[in-house]
Amino acid sequence: MERTANYCPRCGTPLENRLRYGRLRPVCSACGHTVFFDPKVAVVVFVVADDSVLLVKRANEPGKGLWALPAGFVDADEDPREAAAREAKEETGLSIEIDELLDVLHRPDKSGLADIVIAYSGRVTGGKLHAADDAEAAGWFARDELPEIGLATTALLIERWLNSAD
Ligand SMILES: [Zn+2]
Repeated sequence: MERTANYCPRCGTPLENRLRYGRLRPVCSACGHTVFFDPKVAVVVFVVADDSVLLVKRANEPGKGLWALPAGFVDADEDPREAAAREAKEETGLSIEIDELLDVLHRPDKSGLADIVIAYSGRVTGGKLHAADDAEAAGWFARDELPEIGLATTALLIERWLNSAD
């Protein structure tokens, strides 16, 4: 999903594309302001307990009605680890302690809004399983009873989990 900007956020003048810092960027002809499009950053959390993975049934696109890891966007001023724990709590009701960085992916879902997805592992430290927010349902799934997966990052991490020899 490519981003565009029509008006200068500083002075409201229409923007025009000019070569700035090595590529065409929207530049204001009145005040000289250059618009930079920052990546949209999402986080996902991979939580396994008793050899089952924690998944949520997605209430929104992409992957609406399908299952995926707890996930969400990082606020501009937020530590991504805190965002991951916050999203997991919002969607599953469980308190999650973030453990390790698993991967950083670039635009894993073509129809998704995330430019960068940061994947962490985590573990449950409290709370009670209860789907809310962006999740229609939440539950634990063993390796041999996985539901239909709706997001590429979830599919990738589950494949690694299935292939891991523990
Ligand atoms: Zn301007």
